[in-house]
Amino acid sequence: MNRMIHNTQQETNMSLDITSHPVRSGSDELVPSRYAVRVGDIDVLVVSDGVLPLPTAMLAHNADPAVRAAWLDDMFLPPDAFDWPLNVVVVRSGGQTILIDAGLGFDPDLHLPRAGQLIKRLEAAGIDLASVTDVVLTHMHMDHIGGLLVDGVKDRLRPDLRIHVAAAEVKFWESPDFSHTSMPPGFPDALRSAAKRFMKVYRSHLRPFEEEYEVAPGVVVHRTGGHTPGHSVVRLASGGDGLTFAGDAVFAVGFDQPDWHNGFEHDPEEAARVRVRLLRELAETGEMLVATHLPFPSVGRVAVDGDAFRWVPAFWDY
Ligand SMILES: [Zn+2]
Repeated sequence: MNRMIHNTQQETNMSLDITSHPVRSGSDELVPSRYAVRVGDIDVLVVSDGVLPLPTAMLAHNADPAVRAAWLDDMFLPPDAFDWPLNVVVVRSGGQTILIDAGLGFDPDLHLPRAGQLIKRLEAAGIDLASVTDVVLTHMHMDHIGGLLVDGVKDRLRPDLRIHVAAAEVKFWESPDFSHTSMPPGFPDALRSAAKRFMKVYRSHLRPFEEEYEVAPGVVVHRTGGHTPGHSVVRLASGGDGLTFAGDAVFAVGFDQPDWHNGFEHDPEEAARVRVRLLRELAETGEMLVATHLPFPSVGRVAVDGDAFRWVPAFWDY
C-alpha cells in the first residue's frame, strides 16, 4: 500500500515535470498556432500572429464591388470584413535561428486585439527570443515589424542581432509615398509611425542588402519590389527541396484574381506583375509556398488554373 502511494506520488511528480512545458506553452489554445515543415536540412516553423480584420474593399480597390462581393460569397466569407491571417516564420539553418517578419505587435489606437500574438506563441513553441540570431523583414509595414516593438522585446533580443532588410525599403520609409494605396483611415499614420519607431529602436542592427543576400546556408532573401519598393521574398533551398516565403506578394484572393490591387500596395501594377511571375514560377517548380496573409498554416503549392491560379494546401503531416 505504502509502495503504491509512493509510486503514485512519483508518477505525479514525473507527470508534472513532463506537462510543465505544454502547460506553459498555452494548452488553453484549442487551435494550434504553429506548424513545422522541413526543407532538406532546414527547419521551418510557421507561427500564427493571429488575424487582422479589415474592410473587404482592401482586397481589391480596382475591382467592381459586385464582383468582389461575389468572390467573397463564393468563398463563404462575410461581405464586410475580411480576417487577414498573419503568419510569421522561424527558420533554422547552419546553426542560425532566423525570424522572418514579426507580426503586428500592439497598437492601442487600432483596436486589433486578435493579432499581435507572436511573442506569446514563440514562447509556446519553445523559441527563446535570445536564440534568434537574425531577423529578415519582407518589408516594413507594421504587421511585419510590430512584434519587435512590443514593450520588453528588444531587451530580450541578442545585442548582436542582425536585421536584414532591403536598402530600398529603409529609404522608402524616410518619406513614404502612399499615393497609389487605398487604406482605411488611420492606417497611413499608424504605418508611418511604426516604421519611424522601428528605425529609431533598431537602426544599429540593420544589415541592408541591395538585391539579394544569403542569410544562412540555403536561406536567401530577394528583393521583388511592388508591394513596397523594398518588398522581398525569402527562398529556402536544401537537398533538392524548396520553399518560398512570399511575404505580401500573394494574398488569399491572389490565386483567383492575381490582378486585383490590394489597398496596401505602394505600386499595385508592379505588385500584380511580381505576384503573377512568382505564382507562375512556383507552379512550374512545384516548390512550397508560405505567405504572410494566407490561411494558417499557409503551407501549400500553386497550380495554374486557366488564366489564374489555384492554391493547393499541403496535407498536414502529423
Ligand atoms: Zn502584410
